[in-house]
Parts: sequence; C-alpha cells; structure tokens
Amino acid sequence: MLQKPTLNFYRKAGLLSALLIPMGLASSFGQQAKKHLPIIDVHVHAMKVNPAFAADMCPWFLSSMPGTIPGQPAPSFINTDCAHPLKAAKSDAEFQEALLANAERLNITFIASGDAEVLHRWKKAAPDRVIPSLGISSSEQMTVEAFEDSLSNGFYKVMGEVAPQYQGGSPSDMSLDAYFAVAEKLDIPVGIHMGTGGNGMANLSSPKYRASMGRPFLLEDVLARHPKMKIWVMHAGYPMIDEMIALMGANAYVYVDLAGFIWSYPLDEIHMYLNRLVQAGFGKRILYGTDLMVWPELQEVSIGVIENASYLSEDQKRDILFNNAVRFFNLDPKKFE
Ligand SMILES: [Zn+2]
Repeated sequence: MLQKPTLNFYRKAGLLSALLIPMGLASSFGQQAKKHLPIIDVHVHAMKVNPAFAADMCPWFLSSMPGTIPGQPAPSFINTDCAHPLKAAKSDAEFQEALLANAERLNITFIASGDAEVLHRWKKAAPDRVIPSLGISSSEQMTVEAFEDSLSNGFYKVMGEVAPQYQGGSPSDMSLDAYFAVAEKLDIPVGIHMGTGGNGMANLSSPKYRASMGRPFLLEDVLARHPKMKIWVMHAGYPMIDEMIALMGANAYVYVDLAGFIWSYPLDEIHMYLNRLVQAGFGKRILYGTDLMVWPELQEVSIGVIENASYLSEDQKRDILFNNAVRFFNLDPKKFE
C-alpha cells in the first residue's frame, strides 16, 4: 500500500532526479512497508482548518524565493505553482481523519501544539499517536502559574512551539524566563523556533518578525540560566549553520528538528544543510519534524527527503526518524514495538 502511491507521487512530481536514488527509494520504502518501522514527527500544528486560507501547497520541488516591489502584494511562502500540489484539508474532520490515517499507515507518533480544542480531539481519537505540547511565546498568553498547572495536569508532555522571533523577541528575553524555569523544574523538553519563518514573513503577516532574532547564539543566555533544560531548536536555526554547530558543540543537551525548511526551500539547499549537520557529527541530535499545518501528505513527502538522502546510512536515517526522539523525549521504545 505504501510503496506504490509514494513512488507515483514522486514520479508525478518529477522527483526521481540525480539527487534522489530511485533504487534506494524503492528498497527503503519496500522495507518500511513490510516492517512499518516507527517514526516520530516532533513538529505538528493542531489547527482549525479555515477553508478560505487552506491553500494547496507545492513543497521544495519547484521552489524559488520570489520577491516583489512595494505596492505589489508580497508573494506567499506557500508556493502553489506546480503540477501536483499537496492538497489542503478542507475541514477539521477531513484533516483529522487524513492525519490519523497517515499516522496508522506510516506508524507515526507526533508531537502537536496549537489549538487546545483540536488537540484534545486528536488525543481522544488516537491516544497513542499524539503527544500534546503547550506553546507559549509571550507572557501575555498565560500566567506562569497557569502554565505550570497545565504542564502538571498530565495532558501536556512538552513545551513548544516557543516563537518570540515573530514578535521580534529573543528567546533569552527575561519575559519568558520564568516559563523556562518551570519546564526545567518539571523536566519538560522545550522546542524553540529559531531561524526560518517563511519567505517574506515580515511583509506578509508578521511585521515585527526579525531574521536576526533567529540566531542560534541568542539561546546561550537562557541555556546558561537553565543548565538542566532540554531544548530542541526548531527549524535547526536555518540558515545559520555555523552558529547552530557552535551552539551544539558547546551545549550537549541541544537538539534540532528539520521542520519547515525540509519543505519550504529548494531541495539542494535542504540536503546541503542536513548533510552539514551530520558531517559536523550531530547525527544523534537531529529530529525529524514537518511543521505540518493543513496538508496531510506532507509527512510522507518529508520522510522521502530523509529516505533519499544518499549521504545518510540506514542507521543514521533511523536515528533521525525515530531513535533520537526516543532519547530526547525520554520515551519508552517498547511502546513502539
Ligand atoms: Zn516554527
């Protein structure tokens, strides 16, 4: 079931290029279809589907970074110019059904944050597939006490997505410090958005967004204040690879996820970044993630990026897709057998 639609999808999209290794693709997906090895997607957004904004989307295949001039509408980071875009779900029910069906078929467990009502619905429908995460990016969202209560009641296991960058803030700003202290005390892993925010984000919807607030080095102060906090850098600080590598070299508990940039940049660029992280020796600290919003097929095509990375060994692929997340989130590997 898995192999055929996946290969068809790649063929339709004209993806069996020199970068991809068709034999590798066939054999690894063949293997997966047989064994259904578990996968953990650490970066899913629980969103209410707004049909007016739920556009189909072309991932990396044909992507460029289009620009425009003032007075003209900014080009959306959602590229729709390709023959076979990923279909956006048109309703909450359709999204949930497709997402949970994928999770079963591809054996995916995912960490999701966002709309509490959606999250509770998903968790109820698939308790073993969903790990709820509580996102906070500003102290105006909730008090520290309410935050601690929410993390203590057992529903939320993770803190994230923390994304002060969209408001022009640094993750080390003291306004978030008490929340990080709670996560450290409760041994809750924390996901912080650093780096990419989508092409033209400052023009589109977040005028306060600052590229400079995604610099990985901005995490140094908060890490120093909370030496026991486990953090993963969402989007791997893309494209600031040198700072990312230096930060990970200095801080042994820092991991990264591949979410967002794994589908929203040209494919050569994605592989260059991932390869560099692995080459620098951090293959055990890279987590698979998608930044999935409303396109259920996105998980499968993102898995394809890793499966087709000719520079990764099979063991390294399993680390990225599963083993590293089990270690980082302190999950019980037996539960996935
Ligand atoms: Zn993000």
